[in-house]
Order: sequence, then structure tokens, then C-alpha cells
Amino acid sequence: MTMTLINKSPQRIRHETRLRLLEVQAVKHITPLMLRVTLAGDQLAGFSSPGYADHIKIFFPPAGHKAVMPVLGPDGLAFPPDKPRPEMRDYTPRAFHAASTTLDVDFVLHGDGPASSWAAQAEVGQKIVIGGPRGSMIIPDAFDWYLLAGDETALPAIGRRLEELPAPARAVAVIEVASKEEEQPLRTDAQSEIIWVHRNGAEAGNNDLLLRRIEQLALPEGDCYAFIAAESSISKAVRDHLVGQRGIDGEWVKAAGYWLRGVADAHEPH
Ligand SMILES: Cc1cc2nc3c(=O)[nH]c(=O)nc-3n(C[C@H](O)[C@H](O)[C@H](O)COP(=O)(O)OP(=O)(O)OC[C@H]3O[C@@H](n4cnc5c(N)ncnc54)[C@H](O)[C@@H]3O)c2cc1C
Repeated sequence: MTMTLINKSPQRIRHETRLRLLEVQAVKHITPLMLRVTLAGDQLAGFSSPGYADHIKIFFPPAGHKAVMPVLGPDGLAFPPDKPRPEMRDYTPRAFHAASTTLDVDFVLHGDGPASSWAAQAEVGQKIVIGGPRGSMIIPDAFDWYLLAGDETALPAIGRRLEELPAPARAVAVIEVASKEEEQPLRTDAQSEIIWVHRNGAEAGNNDLLLRRIEQLALPEGDCYAFIAAESSISKAVRDHLVGQRGIDGEWVKAAGYWLRGVADAHEPH
């Protein structure tokens, strides 16, 4: 008898850290509060983002200032001393198109914040610097099913995962957005169930709508890999429920805080 061992361990890939000065090629609303910014430039040659939960750093120049290319030295990033320092935030490479060397980034227009404010004013021809991704996690396609849960900041990663999962895979996605208008079409070959949760006026990052909906889910049989990305405390509450009450192996739950309510530029170790 032969036995097949199916490897379910995530694989980490490291990439050479590169900074790239890019130009806005297109700006398009996916929904009223989700803006797709397409970045282009020769410096995208060699860009690689094999993991759906990868992130790049985007360097946002202060309003009225031009993008400045930092220098990556032995002590980290150095910025020209006579220019205001840009703010850095994490974003998901939503789609890289190698043929046209363009990169799509989907921005949630949540209100105040250097990233959201930059996106809201973004125009074709503006320059912006990106760094990374520095690493990628490759999650095997060998699980019986995948749970993808999060708020709108997770939509680029969830959208990628659904697009990248092969046909026999099974996925359940539970996505919290502001309202019905914020639902977006998601392409997939997987057997998928997509559940939208609408805040309908409830405060982003301060509600239990995502958790309550997941509590009601009848979970498919078999081994599950769960990806959760949302406001930090919501992501943690969903993780605690899945591991504590639904018996999902904690090793197979990736719960990320993509933002923290009331805190600018919040950071979690990735
Ligand atoms: C790995 C990773 C990938 C990410 N990918 C994406 C992505 O592809 N698209 C995307 O839009 N976001 C993404 N995010 C989230 C994004 O980095 C944060 O929302 C970030 O705080 C936005 O920066 P800002 O300058 O607009 O606001 P900040 O200056 O960081 O925050 C200002 C205020 O706004 C609040 N705030 C921040 N984000 C939100 C929000 N979404 N809704 C409501 N209030 C908010 C903060 O709590 C704070 O009070 C990702 C985060 C991580 C860690």
C-alpha cells in the first residue's frame, strides 16, 4: 500500500527588498468606497507577489508634495533631510499584470488618514513609491476547505485568494462591508459560497456583525485553513471563536489585524 503525505505546511518565501518609483496610470471606483489605483512604470520589472496575503509598503507624500525616493542603506531607509517624510502604510498587491507591467492596488476610502486621503485625490500622472513585498506565505491547496473572513480592507486579499484557488477547492467567504452598494463581483473557479455582511450604519471596527455571522455558519466537514483580516480586535474575536468553539486547529488560522480602531499607522508583527 502506498501512502500519500499531503503537506499542509505554509511555505515562506523571501524576496529581495526593492523600492520602486511608480506613476498612477488609472484611477477607477470599484464601488463608492473602494478605489482601484493602477500603478505603472519600468521599475515594476521583476515584481513578484506569489502570496494572496502579501503586502507592499506605500509611501504617501504629504499633501502638496511630490514623491521622494528614499535610499535603502545599512541603517534602513533614509529620506532627504530637506523634504517632509512620507507616511508609510501596508497595502495588498491586488493584481500584477506582467505584460503591461502594471500593479492594481484597491484602497478603502475610510476617511481621514494619509493613505485614504491620498487615494481620494489620486490622479493619473502622480508619482508614488512602493517597497516590497519582502516575503510571501504560500498556503497549500491541500485543505478540504478554506474560510476567508474579513472587512473591506481584506477584500483585495480575499479576492486574490478566490481567483487563485483551483477548481476542486472549496471556499466560504464572509465579508463585512458598509452596505449592499459595497459588494463587488469576485471571480473564482473554486466551489464557493460568498456571504456579505452589511454594517448598514454600524461603526466600522466596533461591531460584532462578522463574528455573529460566522457563529451562525454551518461549517463544511474536513480540514480548514482560515484567513481572517479585519480591524484588530474583530479579527482576534473571530480567531478565538474558530479555535475555541469550532475546533479549527490554531496552526491553520491566520488572523491579521489590518487596522486598529482609533490608532493611525497601527502595527502588528507580520
Ligand atoms: C498586510 C495588510 C494589507 C492591507 N491591505 C489593504 C488593502 O489592500 N486595501 C486597504 O484599503 N487597506 C489595506 N490594509 C489596511 C490599511 O493599511 C489601513 O486601513 C491603514 O490604516 C490605512 O491608512 P490611513 O493612512 O488611511 O489611516 P491611518 O492614518 O492609519 O488611520 C487614521 C484613522 O483611521 C482609522 N482607520 C484606518 N483604516 C480604517 C478603515 N479601513 N476603516 C475605518 N477606519 C480606519 C484608524 O483607526 C485611525 O483612527 C492592509 C493592512 C495590512 C496590515
